Amino acid sequence: MSVDLRPWLDAVPAAAARTIAGARHALIATHENPDADTLGAALGVAAIVEHHGGRATLVSTDPVPPLYGFLAGMDRFAQDPAPDGDYDLLVVCDCGSLDRLGDVRDRHRELFDRLPRVLVDHHASNTDGGESDWVDPAAAATCELVTLLAAQLDVPLDAGGGAMAAALMAGIVMDTATFAHPNATPRTLAVAAALVAAGAPLSDISRRLYRSKPDAQLRLFGRVLDRLEVAGNGLIIHSSIDGADHAATGTISAHSEGLIELLAQSETAEVAILFKEAGPDSTRVSVRTKPGGVDATQLTGAFGGGGHARAAGATVAAPLPEARARVLAEALRLANAVHRPQHG
Ligand code: 5GP
Ligand code: MN
Repeated sequence: MSVDLRPWLDAVPAAAARTIAGARHALIATHENPDADTLGAALGVAAIVEHHGGRATLVSTDPVPPLYGFLAGMDRFAQDPAPDGDYDLLVVCDCGSLDRLGDVRDRHRELFDRLPRVLVDHHASNTDGGESDWVDPAAAATCELVTLLAAQLDVPLDAGGGAMAAALMAGIVMDTATFAHPNATPRTLAVAAALVAAGAPLSDISRRLYRSKPDAQLRLFGRVLDRLEVAGNGLIIHSSIDGADHAATGTISAHSEGLIELLAQSETAEVAILFKEAGPDSTRVSVRTKPGGVDATQLTGAFGGGGHARAAGATVAAPLPEARARVLAEALRLANAVHRPQHG
């Protein structure tokens, strides 16, 4: 039985829908260090374009992490677009700013600047959205928006024998932690119901994304959790991960996915932070905050990053110890300003 999404379709902007459906050859791009939401959204947009008779080329500046290999279509992502592609549209998925496209944009600057562009995104920190874009911070995931676009544009949600529904569901499961985060709304659940009805294996997706890991990754988590630190009388919890951790456990950087969610389980901390060595002068910062407390985009925004109020990130151009000192100072300032009613 299919689920009727018509009550939710008024929100779909006509210009974005028309532009995507009319593409002859769309270049569809994800953010760097891609996750299930940006990848699923890109695959969903590709299915829409193809349903309307166009072609789709998918790019992700970084390789697709092995975690997402179980989803059909992940082999379609290239790290660079073919230089002779006759693209007539760029669709940017789940990028809070164009910088998030990563190095591929610098490698093909002329192409990325020249193409007409549609942004489909849900980051509160996104200020790039124009008339032809769909930026909706009320959406739990970009995949929520792409599902509505597909429904509005008469693309059957069970296209590809359920492959499209599975990819879109994976993005929603990823960004809501399987409907556990406060970003899951009635619309998120209605969209998810439609995807399950179209064949998305919800329980399998949730297990693979959140409750199944290589043993090497569990060892990596063990090391990093073992050295967790607190600051500001427990208002901040943080830990760090560097190249030696990966060497010792035989893991790659994508295996740090999920670690910040464990730090964020601290009962007392307003702010959880994971620092990841990304290079000699580059540190990735992941931030999670408690509902009603510190706005995570305020903390990461101070370092050129962005994201959502409860989950955000940034790349700081400094070695890990220096980045840690700078970010912790700002986090302490913000966490000390949070006032909670006393329980008693
Ligand atoms: P994570 O900590 O899982 O890498 O990222 C959390 C959230 O913040 C995600 O929604 C992600 O898109 C966003 N985010 C992470 N890093 C950056 C960044 O460097 N810049 C911006 N604008 N957003 C980021
Ligand atoms: Mn997202």
